[in-house]
Amino acid sequence: MLAKKTHWLLVTNTLLCFLLICLCGCSTTRISPANVREVISRITQKDCQGQLKKLVELGPRFSGDADQTETTLSYLENRLKTMGYTTYRESAGQWLGVDQYNLMAEIRGSISPEIVIELGAHYDTVKNCVGADDNGTGVVGVLEAARVLKNAVPAKTVRFCFFAAEEIGIIGSRAHVDRIAENKQTSVEGLINLEMIGYSTNQPNSQNAPIRIPILASLPREGNFILVAGNFSSGDLGNRFESNIRRFVPDLDFYSANRIAGFFRDAARSDHSNYWDSDIKSIMLTDTANFRNPNYHQPSDTYDTINFDFMSKVIQATVATMLEWGEFNLEHTP
Ligand SMILES: [Zn+2]
Repeated sequence: MLAKKTHWLLVTNTLLCFLLICLCGCSTTRISPANVREVISRITQKDCQGQLKKLVELGPRFSGDADQTETTLSYLENRLKTMGYTTYRESAGQWLGVDQYNLMAEIRGSISPEIVIELGAHYDTVKNCVGADDNGTGVVGVLEAARVLKNAVPAKTVRFCFFAAEEIGIIGSRAHVDRIAENKQTSVEGLINLEMIGYSTNQPNSQNAPIRIPILASLPREGNFILVAGNFSSGDLGNRFESNIRRFVPDLDFYSANRIAGFFRDAARSDHSNYWDSDIKSIMLTDTANFRNPNYHQPSDTYDTINFDFMSKVIQATVATMLEWGEFNLEHTP
């Protein structure tokens, strides 16, 4: 009897151990390359075309126009609500008598919810422009990331930021960064800023540069790459993005201004510079704006000038980076 009892104890213990190993194994299996490929394959050129078309059909999104601003905010709120998000508006004061709001949506972290990683883009345009590239493409990038990441489980909190009033002096992101500093409950690790990610061409001499310094900063002459701009202390975030391009979207050309962009005034012309000023990591992904796109801040910045193959690849690489950075557990994705 004793021997038999010991035998059953052994069997039970072995089974329990096996179960524990399985459970531990599941909780530490956070992400696999196959999972990443599956998620980013859901971002297609067609998706990007559809999303951008709807956005530009709203018309200009000038922050000095109350109706345009409200129409844009309501549209984005509805898009995010349809995906299953709860959104909130964050006040960024007034400009020309118009209330300015950043729009936020989050996926709460399952292990470290107090640590926040951000993906953002400004939603406003200059006056009388629909801003397809500037910055409709960035807005669609954030929307697409929100769409494919919904229902996946990150360890950290992931925040999608739609910034107000960038064109009139990066006012929206300034208000947001001030809030980050005030909020002692959470810690923001950094921001990936999508600032014009849709203009790309293989035409020779289509790429200008504010300055060309051999070896250090010498942009190629063909404007068919995404520029990764980060200051010195954001170096690891830039590295993370670039390694995800190499791994998951290898046919997307990029030019690295990682770590060095903080030295160039032109590389600080968007929301990420407020993060740099507050010692929070941030990189900007951009097609380089007026150094490549002849439609920059013109009514000709329209839907038909966008290269959707390029744009969808930039978004794919961004989502792959967010999956790694947010420590998503894709085993639990429904
Ligand atoms: Zn812009």
